[in-house]
Amino acid sequence: MEKIQMTTPIVEMDGDEMTRILWQMIKDELILPYVDLKTEYYDLGLEYRNETDDQVTVDSAEATKKYGVAVKCATITPNAARMDEYDLKKMWLSPNGTIRAILDGTVFRAPILVKGIEPYVSNWTKPITIARHAYGDVYKGVEMKIPGEGKAELVYTDASGNETRETIHDFTGAGIIQGMHNTEESIANFAKSCFNYALETKQDLWFATKDTISKKYDHTFKDIFQDVFDAEYKTKFDETGIEYFYTLIDDAVARVVRSEGGYIWACKNYDGDVMSDMVATAYGSLSMMTSVLVSPDGNYEYEAAHGTVQRHYYKHLKGEETSTNPIATIFAWTGAMRKRGSLDDIPELCDFADKLERACIKTIENGEMTGDLYLISTLENKKKLNTEDFIKAIKNTLDNE
Ligand code: NAP
Ligand code: MG
Repeated sequence: MEKIQMTTPIVEMDGDEMTRILWQMIKDELILPYVDLKTEYYDLGLEYRNETDDQVTVDSAEATKKYGVAVKCATITPNAARMDEYDLKKMWLSPNGTIRAILDGTVFRAPILVKGIEPYVSNWTKPITIARHAYGDVYKGVEMKIPGEGKAELVYTDASGNETRETIHDFTGAGIIQGMHNTEESIANFAKSCFNYALETKQDLWFATKDTISKKYDHTFKDIFQDVFDAEYKTKFDETGIEYFYTLIDDAVARVVRSEGGYIWACKNYDGDVMSDMVATAYGSLSMMTSVLVSPDGNYEYEAAHGTVQRHYYKHLKGEETSTNPIATIFAWTGAMRKRGSLDDIPELCDFADKLERACIKTIENGEMTGDLYLISTLENKKKLNTEDFIKAIKNTLDNE
């Protein structure tokens, strides 16, 4: 069989621990035999990040801007324990945070649905994609503990030194305050990423905030979304036959639970943080969630939503058998190949990505799966496979399609 040829490289960001093991297996078994894979390789494993003072992370993000498509393996975000474990020069920042700051994007997360893994919400028959704004609000909040009686104010000083003040509260006793911000530019970019992704995936877009209570802050989000939509997207949405729909966050939550899925739910930063965990759990498994960062100027970085699966890695190091689910990482690769194929007009590459995804789903629906799915699958004739055998089973399905 002739291998599929590529023209532009995919930016390949390797990572850590068990997912780094999966990464190599996926390439060796499921991609390299079929595709003459072109990548520009960046090693985001913690050792090399430490060696390069994290420059490699910055370089990989810059390369994503240059080529437009990246695929990323899960990486360790260092904490105190990792400082010792890897003898780090510094507690390096989260690579995802660094990449997001450079690409300025929105993260879209969607579950991969298979028969036998039933969502806890029984009417969710289609995936719900959560689009989380990744900048500002409480994540860049400034907080203060108020020790006792006194007045707390918001003060804005403009470039010429003029002050605008607003009383937050006249405290009569101890309390707490918090200041947070966002920028019109970031909100507009968030809106554009969402509208673009909706058009690309032909799904309706829902957006919700608490604008009735937050008449300036949340209302600005609502207004910017509407302005961007009316100015740049309304016609395209009409042509594609999809809708943009705004409602209050309370109403959205109720509608989401009653819905059958099949749309994108855009969430402010905090709402997205909380709701994506809720949605992922309700669909059954974090190891079945895809994640893609889409920048406003159209760069894509595909990854798995889960981490490096540290506990399994330590078993692997001790020579014990693991049963780690590679599906989300495989779908990161297929997402990147499909996008590269469509940008470069290589339909065979897009077809291969589709075929590999179908082989993954078919293998699980035939009852062959990793331990995490085995625990929750309702199939009768299910079999738990180890990491390697599961990847081989997918290859077998792929070759016999
Ligand atoms: P994790 O790697 O997501 O794993 C947590 C637990 O979830 C695992 O111990 C395992 O449960 C289960 N799990 C997750 N993915 C699985 C898979 N593919 N197959 C089977 N089971 C899976 O989270 P963590 O252990 O909290 O974090 C480990 C490291 O990942 C941390 O250093 C963190 O910084 C990093 N992290 C990276 C990213 C990213 O790069 N996007 C995201 C999150 C975390 P059982 O042990 O019960 O089998
Ligand atoms: Mg969260």
